[in-house]
Parts: sequence; structure tokens; C-alpha cells
Amino acid sequence: MTDIEYNLSVVEERIAAAAKRAGRLREEITLVAVSKTKPVSAIREAMRCGIRDFGENKVQELTEKYEQIAEPLRWHLIGHLQRNKVKYIIGRTVLIHSVDSFRLAAQIEEEAAKKDCDCDILIEVNVSGEESKFGVAPENLTAVVSDIAKLSHVHIRGLMTVAPFVEDPEENRSYFKKMHDLLIDIKSKNIDNVTMEALSMGMSNDYEVAIEEGATIVRIGTSIFGERNYFKE
Ligand SMILES: *Cc1c(COP(=O)(O)O)cnc(C)c1O
Repeated sequence: MTDIEYNLSVVEERIAAAAKRAGRLREEITLVAVSKTKPVSAIREAMRCGIRDFGENKVQELTEKYEQIAEPLRWHLIGHLQRNKVKYIIGRTVLIHSVDSFRLAAQIEEEAAKKDCDCDILIEVNVSGEESKFGVAPENLTAVVSDIAKLSHVHIRGLMTVAPFVEDPEENRSYFKKMHDLLIDIKSKNIDNVTMEALSMGMSNDYEVAIEEGATIVRIGTSIFGERNYFKE
């Protein structure tokens, strides 16, 4: 058994157990394997184990890997997206998790219209209020969602957050609860062209708590592929 195969089996078991504790079905939760900084060989190993959803945080890395793998995969852009990079990824992602302004969404609209394709997105929310974090402030969320909803090629499918890095994942439970509340609140407004089916939250250190609080997508890197070595690049 390879490391990745073993790690995936552990993560899978924990996802299933967390879902069960919350009275939820395993099928409600999508595991996105975060392959950033990892080689294509690691992605292929995860594919061999049945994984098809992969997350990258940089446009260039996503497009490079996209070109190198012939099999159709479901690519998720999870990192901050600059407007001048939008043109490179339109049509290549199943979901862009990190839209945090109308200006960015309008750029996505322009490029998607040019390519005559649709683009599913999540709105990134800065639920913890940390200054270093990207994301829409909760108090501005309804306004931003309502504006973006008017774009015809862009479709909001839900919300995403990056919770603080904490030792004890319980410290993030209140943020995950708040995200779920925001999701329900926006859903109840029944805004045209907006569906609130996806809640992307939970990483290696806190995904079980996130699932207990309603995550439908967890983004897991280290627990699958091991520690990242940024100095090798
Ligand atoms: C890197 C990254 C992850 C995965 O983090 P791990 O702690 O390695 O699981 C998840 N989400 C985002 C936005 C990331 O940049």
C-alpha cells in the first residue's frame, strides 16, 4: 500500500465517521484532494485510488497540471484569484471557490461570455474577520451575492471559507456554524441564479468539525499528500 493510498483510507474513514456523528450521509460530502506543490505523479496515485476532485490554489499550477493529465478531472480553484489570470482558467474548473468581489465575478463573466461557457463559483467569506484573510465580510455578503447573481454566465453555488489555523479544531466550530447560518440565510432569500447547495470548509486539521457543522466540500492536502515543501520549487 502506498502512503497516499493509506492516507486516503484514513481520511475516508474519518469523513464517514464525522458524517455519521452528524446524522448525515457520506454521499453529501465531496472530498477535494488539494494537490498544490505536489507532482503529477501524486495526483495519478490519488486517481488510482478513485479521486477525481483536485484542488489547486494557483492558476498557473492548475493549468500546467490540467495540460499534463489526459483523463477528465474535476479541478477546483481554491486560492486567491487575480483578475488578470481569469482568462487562463475559464472552462477548466468545475468550481472556483475563491470569488470575493463583484469586480472579480464581472471579469469571470466577461471571459466566460467570450468562451460561451458557464462558470460555477462559491463566494469566499472571511468569517473569522482575520485581517490577513481574503473573503467578503459577513455583513456585506447579501449585497455581493445579489450583485453577482445578475451575471448570466456566472452561477453562485454556495459559500467557502478558510478558517484560522488553530491547534484545537474545536476553536473553529463557531466559525463553521456561522457559515452554515449564512448559507441558510442566503438560501431563504431565494435569489434568482443563486443556489446554496455547497459549503466548502474544513482542511486537514479541522475537516471533521466542519463536516459536523454542515460542510459539503472539504479541501484536504497535507493529510493525503503529506507536508508541503515550498523550498523545493
Ligand atoms: C492548501 C489549502 C488547503 C489544504 O490545506 P491542508 O491543511 O494541507 O489540508 C485547503 N484550502 C485552501 C484554500 C488551501 O490553500
